[in-house]
Amino acid sequence: MADLWVEVDLDAVKHNYRQITSVLTTGSKVMAVVKGDCYGLGAVEVSKSLQEEGCKDFAVTTVDEALVLRENGIEETILVLGPSGPQEWPKAIENKIQLTVSQLDWILILEKIANEIGAEVKVQLKVETGMGRTGFNETIIEDLGKALHNAPHIVVEGIYTHFARAAQRDHTYTRIQHDKYQSIINRLEELGVNISQKHVCNSAAFLDYPQYHYDMVRIGTLLGGHFPTISFRDKLDLRDPWKAKARIVHIQKVTKGTFVGYQSIYKAKTDTTLAVIAVGYADGFGVEPRFIPQGIIDLAKIIIKNIAALWRIQLGQERIIFKGKSIRIAGKVGMQLTVLDVGDLECSLGDEVEIPLRRTLANPRIFRFYKKNKKIIRMRIIKEGFLSVNTEYSNSTNI
Ligand SMILES: *Cc1c(COP(=O)(O)O)cnc(C)c1O
Repeated sequence: MADLWVEVDLDAVKHNYRQITSVLTTGSKVMAVVKGDCYGLGAVEVSKSLQEEGCKDFAVTTVDEALVLRENGIEETILVLGPSGPQEWPKAIENKIQLTVSQLDWILILEKIANEIGAEVKVQLKVETGMGRTGFNETIIEDLGKALHNAPHIVVEGIYTHFARAAQRDHTYTRIQHDKYQSIINRLEELGVNISQKHVCNSAAFLDYPQYHYDMVRIGTLLGGHFPTISFRDKLDLRDPWKAKARIVHIQKVTKGTFVGYQSIYKAKTDTTLAVIAVGYADGFGVEPRFIPQGIIDLAKIIIKNIAALWRIQLGQERIIFKGKSIRIAGKVGMQLTVLDVGDLECSLGDEVEIPLRRTLANPRIFRFYKKNKKIIRMRIIKEGFLSVNTEYSNSTNI
């Protein structure tokens, strides 16, 4: 019996996929972006359930991620979005993985490798229009056209760009990026480069610009049941497939005034019950990315929170769900233990609580249960950081 585990509801992922396709412009299709182990949900499991929904296009960041999908029976298109290197290309070509090309000198080497293997390599061109990350910018389009002419083994399947401010709904900036993209395509076509597939939308752009859906949209965030920001939340009915749970492993009744945890940051305001769960920052719990304040109001909030902490008042702290009620974390989260102030709620050893564990930060060693049709179909454990034990479940409903 695990004291800490994650449940991933694959039916919720499928539901989200159907929500997305229901508002997709005719003629376009969804490329499922399952990079970063599908934002922590599990790339193999999510891709397999999307296959069942008819999804035929997948994208990841690295060749290694693409190979994991291939080894696990994903036979559809897999596009590598990020930069890759010549040492990985033979394997990518053999496994029919599409590469993104975004540097001129790669074309010469890739052509040489494909020629030696005697196979065509399908690629997508990435163009840089305002993200400032990877891609060909407009000043080298002539050279790009020439290089592609001299590379008969390289087949350009598509051309894409990535929007930097779609989630902020900065329509002016997004339009400028789009217009740059369009003018680069026009120039390439004049140079005789034939491109069959156009795609520009991530989740945010997909929701705001149906006219930009073109041949494909690249969706990650929405599949996982999240919106790019809460301003989009009315646009689709999404379900969150992710639940992290912990069991109570220690209970203690204490009197008013009891201090809790490192630095005694928490002090019980009444007689109460303290329950301990076995989760901490070694599991990725309570580790928040350091945000840059987005404007003066955000900055003010951070200052107020810190001033309140001087009087041991914890403002805006995330709560934990126990028996349908929201309860407080008492004090600082530890390495592998966290204390909860359950007040006068009845609690027993072994009771389950739901915890706000971020999917992208959750330690991969945590037990995973994948659910489909309300049954557990698969368990995933990674031991010692490298050994992966996957157990297929058939009929089990219990954890
Ligand atoms: C991550 C990524 C996406 C998906 O973005 P979401 O906003 O999560 O849907 C699309 N395109 C590229 C190039 C990406 O890197």
